Amino acid sequence: MSFDYDLFVIGAGSGGVRCARMSAGFGARVAVCEDRYMGGTCVNVGCVPKKLFVYGSHFSEDFRDAKSYGWDVDVKGFNWPTLRDNKSTEIERLNGIYRNMLGNAGVDVIDGRGKITGPNTVEVAGKSYTAERILIATGGWPTRPEIPGKEHMIDSNEIFYLDEFPKRFVVLGGGYIATEFAGIFEGLGSEVTQIYRGDMILRGFDDEIRAFVQAEVTKKGVNIKTGVNISSIEKVSDVLHVKLTDGSIIEADAVLSAIGRHPNLENLGALENGVTLNERGYVKVDPVTFETDASGIYAVGDIIGGMELTPVALAEGMSLANRLYNDNCYEIDYADIATAVFCQPNIGTVGLTEEQARGAFDKIRVYTSEFRAMKHTVSGNTERTLMKLIVDDSSDRVVGCHMVGAEAGEIIQGIAIAMKAGATKKVFDQTIGIHPTSAEEFVTMRTMTRN
Ligand code: FAD
Ligand code: NDP
Repeated sequence: MSFDYDLFVIGAGSGGVRCARMSAGFGARVAVCEDRYMGGTCVNVGCVPKKLFVYGSHFSEDFRDAKSYGWDVDVKGFNWPTLRDNKSTEIERLNGIYRNMLGNAGVDVIDGRGKITGPNTVEVAGKSYTAERILIATGGWPTRPEIPGKEHMIDSNEIFYLDEFPKRFVVLGGGYIATEFAGIFEGLGSEVTQIYRGDMILRGFDDEIRAFVQAEVTKKGVNIKTGVNISSIEKVSDVLHVKLTDGSIIEADAVLSAIGRHPNLENLGALENGVTLNERGYVKVDPVTFETDASGIYAVGDIIGGMELTPVALAEGMSLANRLYNDNCYEIDYADIATAVFCQPNIGTVGLTEEQARGAFDKIRVYTSEFRAMKHTVSGNTERTLMKLIVDDSSDRVVGCHMVGAEAGEIIQGIAIAMKAGATKKVFDQTIGIHPTSAEEFVTMRTMTRN
């Protein structure tokens, strides 16, 4: 049977674009459909605009720090529309680049929402396309709590386009998005309250790192309320009355819901055509081939519910393209994936937490270093840095590396390569540092903190 395409990709986000582009490069006839924005979540309402906002928000602290270095800084204020709109212009530029990149690779880009209508058929905007294989790369969608007044909340899709700058900003959640946006709006000048149902934000990260970052973020001015949730939201005139489960009420101009994301399966026709879900509600795939329970239909990225990170979606898209059209089959190694939380200061982390390492090995050694970065000895900024190495005592291998501090994401990326290569603590110790940097602490931690 002849098909219109070898591969039809639904969703032009991180995973879909990478798989489409590479497959076409290997000679396949590929189409990709996209119903919202080229580049997906990461480019439009995720990593990229978020990082631009992080840069923008850090200036308030930089201006304060500059004074002790002799700069007579006269800050006249912050203009939200300038940041918001300059960010949007950059995103539109990237949308164009993604579209051109796909076109240049020979991929047909079809605008509109894709719906699987048969084992080899996808319908977009009333037109049917046939393909030997279909890839679902539709990503995730923000989840909202089921509470009265939830319609008054915004989510991470809307936060990037707010008309008005919120003077009083409430964030619900204790994960990546909540913690990053609490820091962004605090830096931009909002009065920020972060509401978290547990006792310490960033569950899943190393406990010592969580406690340290919670204290640092609090020091910067974010009011973190733990052990409570939002029970309802009422709009009184233009003010949002946010009622908490402890009975207290906070007044806010905007309330961000950041309580996780769910797979974007709406009106996709996947389940009707043999695709099944796993016990967590994500698309079930073979972990090596990414084929769903429906033969010829594949899925990668956030929709399959692994680590919801762009580089993971890219790796999966790339692996699938290689497997299907380049005769190059390999299994993705999901161990030791580095990640960063762009709160202020940043968290950078790779490998096991101390808690996980204690469960995995008989004996571990923990090395920590906490200090005030050199820049702040003069600036007077009280921000502190924490670095931490976790070593399996019997093999001497470094199995976890964590940092809270300026540019932690940049620093941990390099350490992740060393860890992937199996570096031992001895190798770290033999490495001569770059002076003066914060990063050199990772190769000069000689005294064990505890075992
Ligand atoms: P997506 O990038 O979400 O792409 C899915 C695409 O499919 C979308 O464009 C969508 O419009 C389209 N689509 C959906 N259904 C259909 C349909 N039926 N027909 C046609 N098109 C459809 N990750 C990091 O690594 N670093 C970060 O700093 C980071 N920051 C983030 C910040 C925020 C606020 C958010 C929300 C996420 C962030 N992430 C970050 C996560 C990252 O964005 C995702 O892991 C990544 O985008 C997943 O890629 P994907 O290809 O699976 O899906
Ligand atoms: P996360 O899963 O990181 O965090 C969700 C938070 O919401 C948790 O603190 C969770 O609490 C809390 N929560 C869940 N349900 C409720 C509820 N009903 N009421 C109140 N609180 C609730 O999700 P995010 O939305 O922050 O981000 C989604 C994903 O996007 C991340 O997991 C990450 O993979 C990716 N991302 C990556 C970034 C990066 O790489 N820098 C940045 C932003 C997003 P509890 O801990 O108790 O379960």
